[in-house]
Amino acid sequence: MAVGAPARVLRPRSVEEVRQCYDLARRDGVPLGLRGTGCSYGDASVNSRGHVLDIGSLDRILAFDRATGVADCEAGVTLAQLWRYTLPRGHWPTVVSGTMFPTLAGAAAMNIHGKNNFKVGTIGDAILELDVVLPTGELVTLDRQRRPDLFHAVIGGFGMLGTITRVKLRTKRVYSGEVDVKGVSAKNLAEHMAYMDAHKSEADYLVAWIDCFAAGAALGRGLVHHARYLDEGEDPEAERTLQVGYQELPASILGFPKGEIWRFLRLFNHDLGMAFVNWTKHQMGKLEERKGFYRQSHAAFNFLLDYVPNWKFAYGRGAGRGLIQYQAFVPHETAHATFTELLRRSRERGHTSYLGVLKRHRPDPFLLTHAVDGWSLALDFKVTPDNRESLWATTRELSQVVLAAGGRFYFAKDAVIDPATARAMFSEEARTRFLELKREVDPDGLLQTDLWRRVFRDGG
Ligand SMILES: Cc1cc2nc3c(=O)[nH]c(=O)nc-3n(C[C@H](O)[C@H](O)[C@H](O)COP(=O)(O)OP(=O)(O)OC[C@H]3O[C@@H](n4cnc5c(N)ncnc54)[C@H](O)[C@@H]3O)c2cc1C
Repeated sequence: MAVGAPARVLRPRSVEEVRQCYDLARRDGVPLGLRGTGCSYGDASVNSRGHVLDIGSLDRILAFDRATGVADCEAGVTLAQLWRYTLPRGHWPTVVSGTMFPTLAGAAAMNIHGKNNFKVGTIGDAILELDVVLPTGELVTLDRQRRPDLFHAVIGGFGMLGTITRVKLRTKRVYSGEVDVKGVSAKNLAEHMAYMDAHKSEADYLVAWIDCFAAGAALGRGLVHHARYLDEGEDPEAERTLQVGYQELPASILGFPKGEIWRFLRLFNHDLGMAFVNWTKHQMGKLEERKGFYRQSHAAFNFLLDYVPNWKFAYGRGAGRGLIQYQAFVPHETAHATFTELLRRSRERGHTSYLGVLKRHRPDPFLLTHAVDGWSLALDFKVTPDNRESLWATTRELSQVVLAAGGRFYFAKDAVIDPATARAMFSEEARTRFLELKREVDPDGLLQTDLWRRVFRDGG
């Protein structure tokens, strides 16, 4: 997004070729960074000091069991490939991100969550087994019985412990290609949270869009989307809606070819324009609420941003331009006060987020987890060469607020945190164990990225 670096990219097609990539990096005397599709917002798969191993050519779905919904895939298979394969067979991936382009390797390495995190956990919870090529060249198969410590560390281990080459995971049986969705307009943050908490046992998905320009009593206003899967027999057209063609996102929006929409969005990409866009969206949300439940395809509901290819270009292109996303995870008890402060303070400092998203989460058993029994607020901030310094200073202030509330950050959505923040957000025990494992499986520090060097600069 607003960070990047050139590097030599290696694209192995087998476990043996992964080992050859390790050898090559060692011969060249440089570290190796692992990369999926590069969908992380920050520098998680950027390696400005060495080579990059791109897992994308390991992209075969090896087996799918229709009875159990278990898919066995090479790790470069993307979420898009997976759902396109499983949906006509009556299954949808248990966990997907807001974009369908991540690889399973990248998704596992970050332990991604969906709009259903409060209900089903993270993708790690749906993973049954992993093949990982350790930096020593050894190929290990990990699960909850075989090396459970390494299994729970590789998931969420941001590519620091080995190259994931195969992922076996559960998908969910679905009886329709659509979900029932309703929009619920909320006047402020408290209303959002009260609605989502009250409906978390019956909803399958809950996510809220926040208008970060609203202030005073309206601070945190926006629109909740509440969705549920259809039961067997509820969709008389299930055979048709389960087809991939039914899910494909339209090629144009309101007559514009979708590939060009970002040019139009760019016209609004400044404080005044985005205040207007957010206000309009809030008014439209009130109208949407009147519709009650309506049906939407799985793809349209889950992958809204994929409707607008290259949407990030609207934030500006070229050196030092673009956006960063800042996602804070905060325990339930402190979340309202913390998010109120984040919204208020970022606006006060002249960095109003152009897009805010609120989600409900639950804890998970992975070693470096970012999840909490609580909430996350993701804020998209515009970056320009002129505002960069002050934006980074503002996020440092925000991070103090989040840490004081017992919160954490998510490496897939981070470009700003420093070693002290990383040290404060994980328990000392988890951090020490992770670094021990890193030394054990990667003694010469082969696997590195800019994120690793930024956040674990002191090597532990
Ligand atoms: C529009 C948009 C919406 C998003 N929505 C969500 C969301 O709702 N929820 C969410 O959780 N995330 C979300 N994300 C973030 C995204 O899901 C994660 O960043 C994901 O990790 C990206 O996968 P990737 O294949 O692109 O991996 P990359 O971004 O390329 O890499 C991610 C990490 O995986 C490591 N890695 C890559 N390959 C391997 C490998 N073979 N073995 C081990 N480690 C490896 C990398 O070193 C890096 O640390 C979103 C991103 C975008 C752009």
